[in-house]
Amino acid sequence: MPDLARRLAGRTRRNDAAGWRIGHLAPLAAFAGSLWLETQLGGPGVISFPIPAMLWCALTYSLFATAGITLLFSMWTLLAIASGTLAIGAAVDTPQAIMSLRVGVTLTALAPLAVASVMVARNELLARLQHAASHDPLTQVLNRGGFMARAERVQAAAVLMMDIDFFKKVNDTHGHAAGDEVLIHFARVAAGCLRAGDVLGRLGGEEFAVLLPDCAPDDARVIAQRICDAFAAQPVDVNGGVRLHATVSIGLGCRDAPDTPIGTLLSQADAALYSAKHAGRNRVVLA
Ligand code: GH3
Ligand code: MG
Ligand code: MG
Repeated sequence: MPDLARRLAGRTRRNDAAGWRIGHLAPLAAFAGSLWLETQLGGPGVISFPIPAMLWCALTYSLFATAGITLLFSMWTLLAIASGTLAIGAAVDTPQAIMSLRVGVTLTALAPLAVASVMVARNELLARLQHAASHDPLTQVLNRGGFMARAERVQAAAVLMMDIDFFKKVNDTHGHAAGDEVLIHFARVAAGCLRAGDVLGRLGGEEFAVLLPDCAPDDARVIAQRICDAFAAQPVDVNGGVRLHATVSIGLGCRDAPDTPIGTLLSQADAALYSAKHAGRNRVVLA
């Protein structure tokens, strides 16, 4: 059965689910065409005519849809032979011949089911690999590659460049593991301040960035300040009990024209970030 709960929640696993085109019906049409061809040609080999079309279905559709198609194939074949619609040129009148036919049809249906099952495993593996390639294993937010790819697709009205203040000192004083804890903590705090649809990424080291789609400059400023304040207000416990207060500096760039390239926007936010550092850190500066 399809995973209805996940689909209803809008989190479909299949990458191509959004792009249903008329071309997606081609394997089904080929399947129907081969069933028709069977009735026209007849003979002992016709039972296997739909195999190529069913394999095509297995490569294109979900396991559930393929199971439905193979079920249709098996039932139709047995009924069509029994009713004489399909003339296989042999008498199927003894119990042994009927059993032989049923086993033959069943084994034929196994091939597309096997292919569809392999496709499910392959698609899940691909999704896992895709996630691993585009996400940072430490903080679980998008990595630089994943963030930049998203930046090309999302029309961001504003971007934030964020850099944790004096982070080297955290590492030097409390160790690298404590630094990692601060990074994880920051990603969690920042994500908690964002709206649905905002995109958070770790560009490298202790530098993070956010894409804010559909966002007025004033709102972007409010969001940036919220992150800055929340991070400063929430210390993180490291090394089993050491309370660590850290701060972040944020540069904010707002798109003033719809055709401003995302690279320009990021550079503006980066320049504003450096202004925030020079102005004393733990603050938001608008480009
Ligand atoms: P500033 O306030 O000017 O940003 O100073 P800073 O010390 O934060 O900046 P700097 O660029 O000098 O130091 C960044 C440090 O981040 C240096 C590097 O060792 C550390 N770092 C980079 N990646 C990681 C990581 O994955 N884990 C940890 N723990 N540290 C990291
Ligand atoms: Mg830095
Ligand atoms: Mg820093």
